[in-house]
Amino acid sequence: MRAHLSSALATVRNLGILAHVDAGKTTVTERMLYITGATYKRGEVHDGTTVTDFDPQERDRGITIFAAAVSCTWDGHRINLIDTPGHVDFSDEVERSLRVLDGAIAVFDGVAGVEPQSESVWRRADRYGVPRIAFINKLDRPGADLDAAVESIRERLHPAPLVVQLPIGREDGFTGVVDLIAMRALVWSGDAYETGPVPGDLVEEATRRRRLLEEAVAELHAGALEEFCAQPSLSQETLTAALRDLTRTGAGVVVLCGSAYRNRGIEPLLDAVVRYLPSPLDVPAVRGQEGEERPADPEAPLAALVFKVTSAASGRLTYLRVYSGTLRKGDTVLDAGTGKTERVGRILRVQADRHADTDVAVAGDIVAVVGPKAARAGTTLCAQDAPLLLEPPAATEPVVSVA
Ligand code: GDP
Repeated sequence: MRAHLSSALATVRNLGILAHVDAGKTTVTERMLYITGATYKRGEVHDGTTVTDFDPQERDRGITIFAAAVSCTWDGHRINLIDTPGHVDFSDEVERSLRVLDGAIAVFDGVAGVEPQSESVWRRADRYGVPRIAFINKLDRPGADLDAAVESIRERLHPAPLVVQLPIGREDGFTGVVDLIAMRALVWSGDAYETGPVPGDLVEEATRRRRLLEEAVAELHAGALEEFCAQPSLSQETLTAALRDLTRTGAGVVVLCGSAYRNRGIEPLLDAVVRYLPSPLDVPAVRGQEGEERPADPEAPLAALVFKVTSAASGRLTYLRVYSGTLRKGDTVLDAGTGKTERVGRILRVQADRHADTDVAVAGDIVAVVGPKAARAGTTLCAQDAPLLLEPPAATEPVVSVA
């Protein structure tokens, strides 16, 4: 049972999307939900039908103000998307959602590159040690330039951007990418998608960029360096494993590119989430305020952190992350801060605009519950017989040792 639950945890990704307002966070989220089948209508920001923005005020303003968590499934993995507000006025909410993420996609505008807000959100994510991959969006726009955007990342955010794709075509003629790891082309039009050999006119450039990627990875990763010196090149397997390590330690940042306007263009991004970003098992155990560790183990005593409370038509929804133990429908749990108890009447998985009831939530899960009356963002809910007040996850500790 335990092994089974633990291996299920390996297929969970708790993920946030960090971006400057207007970089395309809402559109990227929409496309992810659409492609993964969590929602069948195609939300458009401009007509107010997006599904992550529940609040009418948000729809009116066209910006994501309040965080919500949405679950979807991709390639056998459950992806819990925790929405993080991009607007600078809502930085407390950003901070709270950063506490419950295991990884993030940082979205940049392919024309503007790194903007001031992207920089401040990035620094905050650094503080919480959130592993990230970067997505340069809007490559279809006039003036979009992947290389310039990557340079702005290198100069302002991170010295080691690791670009794993080469765009095919520019601006209006942007039709797909060359995957520099598998060395194959992904070309989309509307909802159709084709994979094939690297187009003849791009072979030389793709080969050159693959080489640059291998060199950059070998410079940062001891295992890759060993293979690179012996061969001298890197296999697809070594490259992928090294990129995963570098993402998790924060030593490098995998960079993908695309356009959220091209639906299928989001698929390689979903693949990258599964491949590179950590599961709840890969991140450090949380600690209580007295330093005691709680492992991401469904059989340990319950400890969960509330990161958001909303009022919906169905009542008060308390969004929480379970860090350890198992939360069951009907449980009475302890608010570790006040010493009072709360009853969990229902457990819901929020799927875009629908709520699915579930009986249990285990360590690593992000769910909404109905029942608690006084819990607020920041409240720890825990087992009555094992009180524990959660501390924010430790910030800058490396997750995996690379060297
Ligand atoms: P957010 O503020 O980061 O959530 O950004 P939105 O998703 O609301 O997008 C901001 C604007 O950029 C909207 O008008 C979108 O329609 C537009 N947009 C988003 N993705 C793309 C893209 O890939 N290409 C182009 N040309 N526009 C995009």
